[in-house]
Amino acid sequence: MGNLYMCATPIGNLAEMTARGIEILKVADLICAEDTRHTLKLLNHFQIVAKKLISYHEHNKARQNEYILSTLAQGGEVVVVSDAGYPGISDPGEELVSLAVQRGFKVFTISGGNAALSALVASGLPTRTFYFAGFLPKTSKHRRQELQQLEKLNTTLIFYEAPHRLGETLRALLEQLGDRRIAVARELTKIHEEIFRGRISEALQWLAENGARGEFVLVVASAEISGLALESEPPATENNPADLEQLLLNYLAQGLDKKQAIAQIAKKLNIPKKVVYNTFINKEN
Ligand code: SAM
Repeated sequence: MGNLYMCATPIGNLAEMTARGIEILKVADLICAEDTRHTLKLLNHFQIVAKKLISYHEHNKARQNEYILSTLAQGGEVVVVSDAGYPGISDPGEELVSLAVQRGFKVFTISGGNAALSALVASGLPTRTFYFAGFLPKTSKHRRQELQQLEKLNTTLIFYEAPHRLGETLRALLEQLGDRRIAVARELTKIHEEIFRGRISEALQWLAENGARGEFVLVVASAEISGLALESEPPATENNPADLEQLLLNYLAQGLDKKQAIAQIAKKLNIPKKVVYNTFINKEN
């Protein structure tokens, strides 16, 4: 029986390809690549001549899985690579591993780059626990539903995002999660590598000034780490303006501006922003 190797490749800087990865690509009977042209550049760079290279992506994986499993059954050593990082992480590979395990083949990972972990480690935000959310759904309804679930997690959140959706996603994060601390990691390991660290509202400002060029990972702190979770909140109610005032003061003390504080309270208590706004106006007068 052959073995299946899930081989990580660099997320930008080719110098991050491991010696073990190069070795396994050299000896493999079959290399399955998300994009064969992309992988050929990697192979050429390391002067690797593939014995056999096939494409393995979202749209042909069902068909290719059977071919790969039959190659394994005939004793072939098979390597799967994606365009960047680990296959199987926001890239094809998960189903193949599951099928290979079910049929009793050995599966190995060849370590290497991963955009989520690289961004997390350099983010400056808590790393002890985290939740990798991958790409958020594209439709606003589904995105909101998912963020409503993620909002409840008291941990660091990690998202992948395409450059053309970055602004929309940051706005959705601000609306649903509040103005949390964030690290926006761009073009990791590449020439234009950069990490913006601040609040989500500031990241939007940074984006407006710098534009969204390249690849991005978003690392978002929990509400507590962001200073948005109120530890000893009074039991505020819509009918008790004094409670609303207290909540408002708490949020302002945490650095939110008036508009953000009003939006947070309205969301938290599930009441119209206008009610909170009126309380605020009364207090000012
Ligand atoms: N399999 C990959 C991994 O293990 O990280 C992820 C592939 S996913 C299709 C591509 C996304 O990863 C990009 O849209 C971006 O969010 C993130 N990404 C990949 N390379 C990156 C880099 N050099 N800098 C920042 N983000 C990157």
